[in-house]
Amino acid sequence: MARIRALIVLLLAGSLLLGAAGPATAAGQAVLPLAGPVVRGFDPPDQPWLSGHRGVDLLGAVGTEVVAAMAGRVVFAGTVAGRGVVVVSHGDLRTTYLPVRPLVSVGTGVSAGQAIGRLLPGHACPGGACLHWGLKRGEEYLDPLSLLDEVQLRLLPADAAEQVAGLVRYRDDAVTSGAEVPAVLSRPVPGAVGSRFGMRRHPILHVVRLHNGVDLHADCGDPIRAAAPGRVARVSYDSQSGHRLEVDHGSLGGHRLVTIYLHATGFSVRAGRRVDRGEVVGRVGSTGLSTGCHLHFTVKVDGGYVDPERFFSG
Ligand SMILES: [Zn+2]
Ligand SMILES: [Zn+2]
Repeated sequence: MARIRALIVLLLAGSLLLGAAGPATAAGQAVLPLAGPVVRGFDPPDQPWLSGHRGVDLLGAVGTEVVAAMAGRVVFAGTVAGRGVVVVSHGDLRTTYLPVRPLVSVGTGVSAGQAIGRLLPGHACPGGACLHWGLKRGEEYLDPLSLLDEVQLRLLPADAAEQVAGLVRYRDDAVTSGAEVPAVLSRPVPGAVGSRFGMRRHPILHVVRLHNGVDLHADCGDPIRAAAPGRVARVSYDSQSGHRLEVDHGSLGGHRLVTIYLHATGFSVRAGRRVDRGEVVGRVGSTGLSTGCHLHFTVKVDGGYVDPERFFSG
């Protein structure tokens, strides 16, 4: 039976997708070998001699560490047809990783999440460099995403194509070079940017320091919307931030993306809750160190502050 799934998938929270159920195996004990989104899914051929896609492709940056999906023992680390390959045995299952420069040698015991190689160029995919991750039992190819805990998986959203396009733009070099990566984030409130990201004299403290986000014009009580799909990481209050919300959008193109919303009158979501893009999560206020109602919006990539305006469209 043909399983033609045009999957382009994507998404946040280290998560991804998938259509059909695979073999029930060790679910929950595996991790993604690369944080990047799945940009091409498992699509095995009807017959062994036909072409198909006998694994999944994870988008990543060349040089990124690739980790073992499950605990096991390295049974191959070398080159096959000019491509670097690592194969890890897990009892009757084997996971394969390519193209990679191996960081382990044959016989090494590895734990789930342990680095086994670095991503090399060579496996073409929509975003550029991809890790081809495979799973075999004997000579049978299985869907490696079937190893992941259900919780980590997420069905493709309806606007996936647009999101994948955004993702691809968002990738690696764009993030690190400071280039614009439009449309990754939606505006949490429609108002214009008042105070921009960068060094500025604080209006209340009168000291020059990094303004680690943007101040968006909004009226008291206006809805605050999640800038992208994600999971609420933290809801808190302190004298500077006022009511503060942190949303973890997981890994995009190999980079951890987090958004933070300050000075609200309050938030209607709790930690752990999944939120959709555009979902109302709270109301604009002026709590904490604030001179009037507005939304201070911060974006962090891999733990560092970046200019949110780079991620908005228009
Ligand atoms: Zn592939
Ligand atoms: Zn601010």
